[in-house]
Amino acid sequence: MNRNIVIVSGPSGVGKDTIINAWKALNPRVERVVTFTTRKMREGEENGVDYHFVSERVFLRMAKAGDFLEHKEVHGNHYGTPVQGLAEIVDAKKIAVLKIDVQGALTVIPKLPGVLSVFLMPPSFEELERRLKNRDTETDAQIKTRIKNAKREIAAAVHYTAKVVNDNIDRCVQEIQGIYEAAAR
Ligand code: 5GP
Repeated sequence: MNRNIVIVSGPSGVGKDTIINAWKALNPRVERVVTFTTRKMREGEENGVDYHFVSERVFLRMAKAGDFLEHKEVHGNHYGTPVQGLAEIVDAKKIAVLKIDVQGALTVIPKLPGVLSVFLMPPSFEELERRLKNRDTETDAQIKTRIKNAKREIAAAVHYTAKVVNDNIDRCVQEIQGIYEAAAR
């Protein structure tokens, strides 16, 4: 049950998007569930691809209607995982990947028995800080908060099926594919 759903989680800036995209390139059955958010679109992002960008009013209405498997407020914005988007990917016999933060993952793991959950670890906190700075999308104060949160979040890694260090994209993706194959057997 839920063997074809994989949660990819970990601290902000650890490289969740990069790893999911690289895994999809290796395994075309991989399909990310597009989640909903009320945060502003960043340059280069596309509605319906990176997120479904919605207003707070629409988001709260959907939350009330039970359209989300989980929803959370992260760094002042709302994020939610759509039940329907997930079901569509599973019904199409693909591997549904949930890219969610640590709080969200801890809510979803008990709701989906047998789900595979991967906690992406930064090689070090120095490297995480460097990646967040390079991304150039957060202020220095926001980076500080995200690093502080990351230190707390890493303690939650024990609740996941596997902990994978994102030190090298190819190596990391091979490890995730291997974990998936072993679990699917
Ligand atoms: P960002 O604003 O940088 O895209 O994402 C901020 C955080 O929200 C990231 O850690 C991301 O994984 C998380 N996130 C994205 N979508 C969801 C979701 O549907 N639910 C939860 N709980 N977190 C999400």
